[in-house]
Amino acid sequence: MDALPRCTLLKSRLTFWFTEDQVTQPNTPDALFNEIDSRRDDLIALTQDLIRIPTLNPPGTNYLEICEYLAGRLKASGFSVEMIRAEGSPGDSDQYPRWNIVARHDGQGPGECVHFNSHHDVVEVGNGWTFDPFGAELKDGKIYGRGTCDMKGGLAASIIAAEAFIAMHPDYHGAIEISGTADEESGGFGGVAYLAERGWFDPKRVQHVIIPEPLNKDRICLGHRGVWWAEIETKGRIAHGSMPFLGDCAVRHMGAVIAEMEGTLFPLLASKRTEMPVVPEGAKQSTLNINSIHGGEAEQAEDYTGLPAPCVPDRCRMIIDRRYLIEEDLGEVKGEVLAMLDYLKDTRSDFDYEIRDLHEVIPTMADKNAPVVQTVARAITKVLGRGPEYVVSPGTYDQKHIDRIGRLKNCIAYGPGILDLAHQPDEWIGVEDMIDSAKVMALSLQELLAGR
Ligand SMILES: [Zn+2]
Repeated sequence: MDALPRCTLLKSRLTFWFTEDQVTQPNTPDALFNEIDSRRDDLIALTQDLIRIPTLNPPGTNYLEICEYLAGRLKASGFSVEMIRAEGSPGDSDQYPRWNIVARHDGQGPGECVHFNSHHDVVEVGNGWTFDPFGAELKDGKIYGRGTCDMKGGLAASIIAAEAFIAMHPDYHGAIEISGTADEESGGFGGVAYLAERGWFDPKRVQHVIIPEPLNKDRICLGHRGVWWAEIETKGRIAHGSMPFLGDCAVRHMGAVIAEMEGTLFPLLASKRTEMPVVPEGAKQSTLNINSIHGGEAEQAEDYTGLPAPCVPDRCRMIIDRRYLIEEDLGEVKGEVLAMLDYLKDTRSDFDYEIRDLHEVIPTMADKNAPVVQTVARAITKVLGRGPEYVVSPGTYDQKHIDRIGRLKNCIAYGPGILDLAHQPDEWIGVEDMIDSAKVMALSLQELLAGR
């Protein structure tokens, strides 16, 4: 093993000692905590108002309405507000415009800027609800509705945290920004990516980013795995279905691809383990999902009552969703699949294929010693009486754009809500969890902007 540089060792020992020391401290009652507790009803009402604006994506409904609501709220709290439409981004149209809002509050002197970024879109409702998905009913300390946990509850908690902090520290230095952005659920191109391309996340203007996605109130999410989506097509030759020997079945060739995946690729991926603290445990390895396969004639409409024509399929397409680790290189990831396909080309008669890249995201992970990580870790310890768990998300979220386009590394996801409830029927957020995470966010602001 390589020797660690002395300063790194010292630093890690200090960090360890510091965290342990804080764990043993009792919860200190704090004026800031009382201020947040006093805003409980406001927090509930704010969350309910946000849920009652259905911002379904796709197609992207009521984006203007939710941005106008947030603008009204934040202007009243002394923020200046900019509304930005991501014109020309995927899905943007006059019927479904991609609206974003960035609100900024400047303190009494120069200092750093802390930015809270939440997406305001929610996924489709789906079946199985026993509550009104847009009713935002409060029952037994939980608010129910689509987007409560992912992630309007986190957005509301960050607003309450900022407002409470400003009330307690009107003389703070630096700035606070709160953004509500579009389309995270469909890739974030009309939201954070659009803003990042226009300099909104330039490290010269923003120094710390917290994304209140529902990762549980005691976890700090440092980043996410990488993604590669591709479409593999196997080639065949059409012929009459009664004489398949006169054609060449593209679906059988795809069957050989799947057999090769089962025999060599899946075991190879399962053998790759990451040092990233990915949750859940199963996602600590490389994974590949066969997203879909289509071969043969196009599917007919559901009301078509006729039979298919007897043909040998001359093409078959498969979409793969490969999630990769920070230790892997994207070229190597693609190379494994290409090597498998080339092997089949060499060994299986008449096998031919094409492959097309569809989408790729580089893995990202903030340094555990980054300032925003350490600040939020200390705040969690103070509020919850125990240190945080550091995690990495199996799937991606908007941190990718802040890192890759904005070049801003000092970014984490931290917010209330139980990750497993995201996109589920009867999604809910616990009021107590929102209060606790608002305290963590406010305490982080206090350390970063008020030096306490
Ligand atoms: Zn989300």
